[in-house]
Amino acid sequence: MGAGRVLIIGAGAAGSVAAQKCAMNRDVFTGVHLASRTLSKCEAVRARCATPIDISQVDADDVTQVIGLIERVKPDIVLNLALPYQDLTIMDGCLACGVHYLDTANYEPRHEAKFSYTWQWAYEQRYRDKGIMAVLGCGFDPGVVSVYCAYAGRHLFDEIQSIDIIDCNAGEHGQAFATNFNPEINIREVTQPGRYWERGRWIEIAPLSVSRIIDFPGVGPRKAYLIYHEEEESLVRHIRGLQRIRFWMTFSDSYITHLTVLQNVGMTRIDEIDYEGRKIVPLQFLKALLPEPSSLAEHYTGRTSIGAVIRGMKDRAPRQVTLYNVCDHARTYREVGAQAVSYTTGVPAVTGAMMVLKGLWTGAGVLNVEQLPPEPFLNELERQGLPWQMDEQDVRGASLEGEASFA
Ligand code: NDP
Repeated sequence: MGAGRVLIIGAGAAGSVAAQKCAMNRDVFTGVHLASRTLSKCEAVRARCATPIDISQVDADDVTQVIGLIERVKPDIVLNLALPYQDLTIMDGCLACGVHYLDTANYEPRHEAKFSYTWQWAYEQRYRDKGIMAVLGCGFDPGVVSVYCAYAGRHLFDEIQSIDIIDCNAGEHGQAFATNFNPEINIREVTQPGRYWERGRWIEIAPLSVSRIIDFPGVGPRKAYLIYHEEEESLVRHIRGLQRIRFWMTFSDSYITHLTVLQNVGMTRIDEIDYEGRKIVPLQFLKALLPEPSSLAEHYTGRTSIGAVIRGMKDRAPRQVTLYNVCDHARTYREVGAQAVSYTTGVPAVTGAMMVLKGLWTGAGVLNVEQLPPEPFLNELERQGLPWQMDEQDVRGASLEGEASFA
């Protein structure tokens, strides 16, 4: 194909970055259409784009509206940058119209924080039968880190034994309490029990009960917490020989203190409560009070450092490497008016769409990004502003449990 039309759904923090990046790459994206629940947000993004884009209002919870939009816009691929709640309706719309689908976060039912690919993997046969692709988890994590693992499996290891995904936002936004992406999804993710996979089984721990100091490349030592993150589920399935996978994310002491208080008073509940005769969900009410992630960008300083520490065997000797990217909030603000967390989500999504339109990622069915060729994606990602680096650690003589691993 080489080039084609893209429809982006969701004009939030990541959707704004994606629309602007598509508008900068018109050799690949011959048509760019941005649709979201609030038209004024699409208008604001359109004003930032380097070349003209089209916009529409859509409620993507309603599959009929999604189908109507796709029939009108006639895209070659749909980028879902709305919320995980809309994944299935947008997948249904793409299936009905025979159009490729791509997202950055897995489906989650509103009434239960249950990050799992189960619902989306269930579309495999229907997407195959239609001859189209659903590319799942093409942000940074999931996304780029999963591609790092695929690259390592192909080029750096004979066998991968353990993966530690390490995610640090060492930035300062100057707010007492704010989340870097959608507050509702972020708080649901962080307050659920932690979970990691070891030697064939999932081990569950109390929320934020395990932490350690990690020396993040480009940032330095930071306290990181073991939490559950969705790419663990797909990497366990797709990386052969894997014995352990964990996910570590940094939170400042102030963030944890605020979150603990909010939890203790019930503000993070996701069930409905009665308030003066009205039903409200406390977490949705809290979201309305918190700053929108996109509003943090202007005064953000510092960097993100996100990567994968991968351990395994190469030529019969143990090996450990860290593949990572360091991204500066102020630089991304200068380029697209966004902070680095939105940038590192939107740019990989656009890069994934390029892979599909250029015919570098092909196939039919539901595919997580680690199942697709990593090399062209990483090369294009670098051109689009997210280069990657590799450090090698000396682990000769250290066991899998050894503390030499990465702290
Ligand atoms: P935002 O809240 O900033 O943006 C979400 C956008 O989706 C908003 O503009 C919202 O509209 C729109 N939206 C919500 N519901 C609907 C609907 N029913 N129909 C149409 N549009 C709708 O979130 P982010 O940009 O921070 O995050 C976007 C996605 O990226 C999320 O799924 C998040 O989980 C994921 N993500 C993935 C990461 C990764 O590395 N893989 C990292 C960070 C985020 P409105 O403005 O009207 O509310």
